[in-house]
Amino acid sequence: MRRFGLVGYPLTHSFSIKFFNESFFPEKGIDAEYVNFEIPDVQMMLDIVRKDPELEGLNCTIPHKQAVIPLLDELSDEARETGAVNVIKIYREQPENTRDGRGFRLKGFNSDIVGFRNSIEPLLQPHHKRALVLGTGGAAKAVCHVLGKLGIEWRSVSRTANENSLTYSELTPDMMEEYTIVVNCTPLGMFPKVGTYPELPYEALTTRHLLYDLIYNPTETEFMKRGAAMGAVVKNGYEMLELQAVAAWNFWNLK
Ligand code: NAP
Repeated sequence: MRRFGLVGYPLTHSFSIKFFNESFFPEKGIDAEYVNFEIPDVQMMLDIVRKDPELEGLNCTIPHKQAVIPLLDELSDEARETGAVNVIKIYREQPENTRDGRGFRLKGFNSDIVGFRNSIEPLLQPHHKRALVLGTGGAAKAVCHVLGKLGIEWRSVSRTANENSLTYSELTPDMMEEYTIVVNCTPLGMFPKVGTYPELPYEALTTRHLLYDLIYNPTETEFMKRGAAMGAVVKNGYEMLELQAVAAWNFWNLK
């Protein structure tokens, strides 16, 4: 039986274990299992890979998507450009050919990119030329990378003022006319804090706006509800989640 898993902390919220073990593997007739490794320190991943020789690949989630990079031997172009990794393929090798004689080589990929791109593309209209990306974490990096590739001008919005980002208090109703895509890459609105939402001038939203929330639990977040009330098109992160999981499987099966 093939083995895959997830490293992150905490993992109570994780969708992947259920998706792979209860849907994807049985439906595709794949003889494999998926296990969670809840690790507060990303360095612990090396011990896991060493002690579990059947392990072929890992997903990597909060808070390790950026911190894992120095532990890897190689990055895909997209992972390097975004600076965030959520998929790791393990190549077992002769110890003498590996870093510190550890007996394996690790390559990092980013499947959030394909998940976000393939789920937002069908919703894009010619007037969607500018986007606000809320939050500056690992997922936001993948989102900004995709928007750039799609030719959409984007600005980051952060709680912290700095030269690369706007702050929430700088968002005016006039600006919302220009920025017709808003992507929530913050945890605001996620279960169990379902009453929270990013501070935006929601009253300035129209039917021309597209509000995309990376959160998938709950199905309709407060951010989406407030957008939908103004006639905006809204989407949650569930399709992205499924698409990125399938993309991870494809990365693990690369030669
Ligand atoms: P992360 O690295 O922790 O980053 C979240 C960012 O949100 C932070 O960098 C921060 O940016 C901002 N933030 C954090 N707490 C906040 C608060 N209380 N109020 C306002 N802003 C806050 O997390 P991530 O990995 O990027 O994930 C972000 C969200 O996307 C999570 O909800 C995650 O579940 C979801 N996600 C979904 C998918 C999917 O497939 N659907 C994939 C990946 C992630 P500033 O400090 O700059 O404000």
